[in-house]
Amino acid sequence: MQFIDLKAQYSALRERIDRRIEAVLEHGAFIMGPEVAELEGELASYCGVGHAVTCANGTDALVLALRALGIGPGDAVFTTPFTFFATVEAIMLAGALPVFADIDPRTFNLDPVALQEAVERTRDAGRVRPRAVMTVDLFGLPADYATIEQVCARHGLELIEDAAQAFGASVRGMKAGAFGRVATTSFFPAKPLGCYGDGGALFTEDDELADVLRSLRMHGKGEDKYDNVRVGTNSRLDTIQAAILLEKLDAFPGELERRQQVAERYRQALPNWLTAPHVPDGHVSSWAQHSVLAASGDDRERWIAGLKSAGVPTAIYYARSLHLQTALAHLNHSAGDFPVAEDVSNRIFSLPMSAYLTEADQDRVIDALRALG
Ligand SMILES: *Cc1c(COP(=O)(O)O)cnc(C)c1O
Repeated sequence: MQFIDLKAQYSALRERIDRRIEAVLEHGAFIMGPEVAELEGELASYCGVGHAVTCANGTDALVLALRALGIGPGDAVFTTPFTFFATVEAIMLAGALPVFADIDPRTFNLDPVALQEAVERTRDAGRVRPRAVMTVDLFGLPADYATIEQVCARHGLELIEDAAQAFGASVRGMKAGAFGRVATTSFFPAKPLGCYGDGGALFTEDDELADVLRSLRMHGKGEDKYDNVRVGTNSRLDTIQAAILLEKLDAFPGELERRQQVAERYRQALPNWLTAPHVPDGHVSSWAQHSVLAASGDDRERWIAGLKSAGVPTAIYYARSLHLQTALAHLNHSAGDFPVAEDVSNRIFSLPMSAYLTEADQDRVIDALRALG
């Protein structure tokens, strides 16, 4: 059993994907070929937004979002310390200051009360200007937008949704990618919708912002690529990756359904002493990861070792809260600053999750959990 089985998906979709790749090799438009625009149309309609703008990866997508909104030096961007490093890296690459707020222990997402406090503290200190909130839909579960949108409105903050892990998720029918002024996702192979290399996209309703994003991803182009109206970058999605994604997007709704079924089986089987992931009312997770909480750090070691000897792979996302990372030492945080994120990072681990996890493998995970519980 593999933790995430990308080969099983390729076996299922092989003929269609191969045919799409061959078509690109034949027409030869490897950069911004017709598949890119076709994919952008399909992504926008899937997410129910006006514009999808593809780019080279999910990290670039975040940087492009910040740059398009004019966020940079002197600005504070509020985010969670319990996420993949890229979220915070993007804020710093844009020249802004990341300001953390602690997470909700049940959803692992940004806690709106802690966020409100962080915004007020930053505003009162007066050293940087509160400008934006960058939410993360961790493990595929959308953040608490109903409340976070109110915090943003109250303080005049832009909202940027990092939906790198949440493509396909929703809140009361509204898809991840549709929240905030601008949202981003990643097509890294292991994400819910992955390509066969790096890829990313941005989503927005705002026509003007979409134009700026299209310009920024292509050297700040104006009328054409030799008319440069701003300093942009080179961040395009390869046509071959767009072609692969078109076929994968077609299969995606069925895969999402199967992920729900695996999560539901796990939920019913989990012994009481492992805390199952909490999905608030009206929320649908895309189950990028199925993460559970052990009783303690030692208890986690026991579960992981026991599952391993039963042939069940696990992973830890994330073993260290970002405020304790070496690269962010200049922010002068110490242990205890974000107690919920620290506690969760000591106890969390993830079970195998894939649309292609066989019934037999699901049974193996469940039997092992029961035996160890
Ligand atoms: C994967 C990920 C990213 C970055 O995406 P890449 O395509 O790998 O650059 C950003 N934010 C989060 C939360 C992620 O999980």
